[in-house]
Amino acid sequence: MNPTELLNYGKGQLGERNLNDARILIEHCLKLKPSEFYFSKKSIKTREKNSYQKLLDKRKNGLPTAYITEETEFMGLKFFVNKNVLIPRQETEILIEEVLKLLPTSHFPLPTILDIGTGSGNIAISLAKYISDAKIIATDISKEALGVAKKNAKLNDVSDKITFLQSNLFNLLPSTFYLLPSFDLIISNPPYIKNSEIKKLQKEIQHEPKIALDGGKDGLNFYKKIVLMSRKLLKKNGFLMFEIGYHHSQKIKKMMAAAKFRNIKIVNDYSQQERVIYGQNSN
Ligand code: GLN
Repeated sequence: MNPTELLNYGKGQLGERNLNDARILIEHCLKLKPSEFYFSKKSIKTREKNSYQKLLDKRKNGLPTAYITEETEFMGLKFFVNKNVLIPRQETEILIEEVLKLLPTSHFPLPTILDIGTGSGNIAISLAKYISDAKIIATDISKEALGVAKKNAKLNDVSDKITFLQSNLFNLLPSTFYLLPSFDLIISNPPYIKNSEIKKLQKEIQHEPKIALDGGKDGLNFYKKIVLMSRKLLKKNGFLMFEIGYHHSQKIKKMMAAAKFRNIKIVNDYSQQERVIYGQNSN
């Protein structure tokens, strides 16, 4: 059996739909680079097939592939992930792309950015990577998540540009930040699933941390708090940007307008779902 035949074997178990996962698990198991996969004539040993089978079994039980391989990609960068953090989603890349349009370095020298609920650090680290002189503070309530985020900052060589803080939203942010509104951008992909809906989600998502998903009764708990506090922390014309869930845009737009944010825009993702909302602080 060669890797291509092994892929067929994996596909037989995971189904055509999960072909990509079947391939990633082989690459992980045989330590092959994606570029080597299709050309490899390597003959698979029984021991290797058995260890592949163990990974297939985990996947069949609903464990997401990224937790099995402890790795995923976001904005073309590699991230370590484990069960303490949400697996970065491709849709979240839209936030990064919007920020890159909004903060041209010429208008915002040394932009200061606050990322709330950083999880694996994917947002903060991508911004640190793609905005050369950005200064970033990234918070999370979970010490374990911050451990993962710090590891990822190191992996991507941006540790010197990000300060990680364990904080429940803003509660441990040093008071100096309030005395002089400090941020050009506050960004967050907060938990936004209604808690009554979490149980109904597919079994893969059930493996992800509940605190990274649960947005309270209406899914909007974190938006309410972040909108109100952000006004005191953003510079005049500073941006507040969120990832948003299905059907939430109008409610969040209202909250932002009531808090006197202006130029509020909603951006769709590639599947034409409303995914991002942002506005500017009028203070
Ligand atoms: N900021 C991380 C992400 O976008 C984590 C978000 C979260 O835990 N809700 O994936």
